[in-house]
Amino acid sequence: MNAVPQYSNYIGGQAIGGDEYIEVENPYTGRIIGLAPKLGAAAADQALSAAKAAQPAWAKRSPVDRASYLAKCAAVIREHRVELAELLMSEQAKIAPLAQVEIDVTATYFDYYAGWARIYEGEIINSDDPQENILLFQKPIGVAVGICPWNFPFFVMARKVAPSLLVGCATVIKPSSTTPLTTLRFAELIQSIGLPPGVLNFVTGSGGTLGSALVRHPLSDIASLTGSVEAGVEIIKDSADKIMKTSLELGGKAPAIVFPDADIDLAVKGVTDSRLIFSGQVCNCAERAYVHKDIYPEFMDKLKAAFEAAKLGDPAEAGVAYSSQVDSAQLAKISGMVERAVVAGAEVVTGGQPADLGTGYFYEPTILAGAAQDSEVVQKEVFGPVLPVLEWDDYDAVIAAANDCEYGLTSSVFTRNVSTTMQAVKDLNFGETYVNREHFEGIQGFHAGWRKSGIGGADGKHGLYEYLQSQAVYIRY
Ligand code: NAD
Repeated sequence: MNAVPQYSNYIGGQAIGGDEYIEVENPYTGRIIGLAPKLGAAAADQALSAAKAAQPAWAKRSPVDRASYLAKCAAVIREHRVELAELLMSEQAKIAPLAQVEIDVTATYFDYYAGWARIYEGEIINSDDPQENILLFQKPIGVAVGICPWNFPFFVMARKVAPSLLVGCATVIKPSSTTPLTTLRFAELIQSIGLPPGVLNFVTGSGGTLGSALVRHPLSDIASLTGSVEAGVEIIKDSADKIMKTSLELGGKAPAIVFPDADIDLAVKGVTDSRLIFSGQVCNCAERAYVHKDIYPEFMDKLKAAFEAAKLGDPAEAGVAYSSQVDSAQLAKISGMVERAVVAGAEVVTGGQPADLGTGYFYEPTILAGAAQDSEVVQKEVFGPVLPVLEWDDYDAVIAAANDCEYGLTSSVFTRNVSTTMQAVKDLNFGETYVNREHFEGIQGFHAGWRKSGIGGADGKHGLYEYLQSQAVYIRY
């Protein structure tokens, strides 16, 4: 029997092992496919000390110089794109085409932020005094901690590394213990690109110990988390005494509102793809649909057919829509929420239970009708292939229902009417709204949640400025 590969952490350019290791499971096969060090608070101190030592010299380099390393990261990813996609597929049962997209978009992401080297800038502000200039410099915050989730572990790693390094921050990345392997393989591969030791460090361990220690440590200057609301709350508490900046991208409960004039086929496809992609484990995908009563019967018939046509299976097999949930806990959470929704009065239109494929942690594509607006399944993130569909007939009421949620990440609208589009966009209180398309944001946009979905955000110009702090300089002459 082949030995399970053991991966390293990287601190100050050195490969580090652990006394204990996290076993990483392929959720589809159930096999252990890799071991990642399980480090604790001492590693947080080592990694942050290495980053702190490296950061001033890194910040003194020109942005173009720093950008050259981002371009090298992109090149390394492209050179190993198939290997990385296969690893990503196996550590989280993401279907092969989606795993490949994640790897390729991540390379593009590094290139995109490399392109910002000559673009980001400070400001010159008019003074009240004609003999004075006011200059607003933009300076790197210092040492950044990036804490990543399991669902898009590789892309989210780049979301934290690329803008942070480009502006002159040194960075410590903590991947999720569920899916650390692709990131650790990347960490190994980039040891050859010549990054100064300590500029970029990778450590693995539990959120409650290592993650918390990274946030609480006096040497960290910003904590950027993509993860659950619960982890976000802990990070706010852990950073409170330090008055440290946090950037939090948390959960979502996106409403999809379908208007009576919508292209129904487009709406059905958009909502289906959005809800079922990666087994529903995507923060910005449609988590609840509101469908106008005039088209509700046709929409539901077509939606049911689309959900029932989705093929579950091996993530490597062509034509599979989605594979296993990431672990047994995720499957149990989804099952529990559907059971409670039914007890609370929802009707199962299709699905409604785990799917037995003899392997993995599968849940059937599930549509629920008649769930109440204030019920758990309409209010809380399911993070699985389960869609409650609610019927509506009053514009103000449906907008109020969509906005009535503690999450405020994304939303979508399906209509052919420009006035309806503009009015709905104006009335919806979410960080992102997609019109006549499914979810997924552009790297030049700004991915940010309202309410409990987060503070700050990522991507584009505004994502870059998360890692900068201003210095206003008043020059009399
Ligand atoms: P999670 O909160 O369990 O874990 C995320 C990361 O936080 C992990 O690395 C974990 O170890 C770490 N962590 C946990 N507790 C911590 C603490 N007290 N201090 C420091 N670090 C801690 O989330 P998850 O289950 O990995 O990811 C799923 C969640 O992430 C979902 O809610 C999803 O909506 C959200 N998500 C949001 C976005 C977005 O862009 N808004 C993107 C992807 C995922």
